[in-house]
Amino acid sequence: MSGDRRYEGYLLLADISGYTAFLTGTELEHAHAIIRELTKLIRSRLAPPMKFVKLEGDAVFCYADVAAFADGERFVELIEVCYFDFANRLQDMTRATTCKCDACKAIPSLGLKFVTHFGSFMIEEDDDGREDLAGPDVILVHRLLKNAISDGAGPQAYAFFTDGCMRRMPTWFSLPRHSETYDSFGEVTGGVYDLQPMLEERRAARRVYLSAEDADFDGRFETAFAPEVVWQYFVDPEKRLRWQPGQTAVTAEPNPAGRMGAGASTHCAHGEGTADGLREYLDWRPFSYFTNRYISLRNGNEGAFLAAMETTEFTPLDGGGTAVTMRIRIEDRSESELRRFLEHEESANMRKLFHLAWIPLNKAIEEDGFLPAEAVAPNGD
Ligand SMILES: [Zn+2]
Repeated sequence: MSGDRRYEGYLLLADISGYTAFLTGTELEHAHAIIRELTKLIRSRLAPPMKFVKLEGDAVFCYADVAAFADGERFVELIEVCYFDFANRLQDMTRATTCKCDACKAIPSLGLKFVTHFGSFMIEEDDDGREDLAGPDVILVHRLLKNAISDGAGPQAYAFFTDGCMRRMPTWFSLPRHSETYDSFGEVTGGVYDLQPMLEERRAARRVYLSAEDADFDGRFETAFAPEVVWQYFVDPEKRLRWQPGQTAVTAEPNPAGRMGAGASTHCAHGEGTADGLREYLDWRPFSYFTNRYISLRNGNEGAFLAAMETTEFTPLDGGGTAVTMRIRIEDRSESELRRFLEHEESANMRKLFHLAWIPLNKAIEEDGFLPAEAVAPNGD
């Protein structure tokens, strides 16, 4: 069976490097177990929001429809987190093994690279109902795996974005140029993102996390969608606006690096008669949690919300859904202010709104074509 519908979207291959040398060693059993664990990790970090197509030896092939990432930064973030978790897992495996076999000794020599292209493709279904992709752009993204990016002093861990993909990216994302020539495609140009500095930066980033014990407000709801999907609907202003009750406008101010992350902020308006709010992000851990400071802005209604720290956490549930937890700690710890928060209808109102937020959130996510991992009943506090 072959579908004639053409799709447009992101094509991504995540390829474990050092794999051939690794598997030609003698300790095949350990080598295979290590590769299996790493491939499983890569798959789980990319899909969803991407759709897994298949394993191709040491490479994971997946794609996403153009609508899956309203903002290209979320796609970059997905690759960054996948590499971050991969590199950390390698480090853990290296530290944990006491085995002296060739395979286990060679774990640190494994690496991960990504090649990605934005283009069109057809989705074909085989007799078992499994999807596969076809078309010239699909061939091209596979050809990209053979390249000279790591030659000489080139980066070992990288993501290569073709120009087709770069055009979907935010303006801050400018990369060193690279070009390759392939039979029947000619010259293919794009940008190379060195993942090593990103890894070091993420490892060094300060942790700011509000625990349940320290919180004055602790709200929780569940949704059937994966954390990587739900995350977008909290951090993308347009997406957040579509579901968050009481919100009339959200605008984002990126950090000095041009990113949404620590140092970035969002400004939310809540309409006539209420104060606007400013969220300044202090810690940014996609797709696990973010922590921000929240303050009221002066627009004639200042003081309507108390200055606070907030942690919004995304916990994966068995079956693929997400528990979203929001914790708030009021900055002013005086008895009167705490009482004002706890007894004031502000917190009661917020509890009610937050408790029901999964309804419009699920609706927005469904409208964008994401499929729930499985039906999950709402379960708030
Ligand atoms: Zn071993």
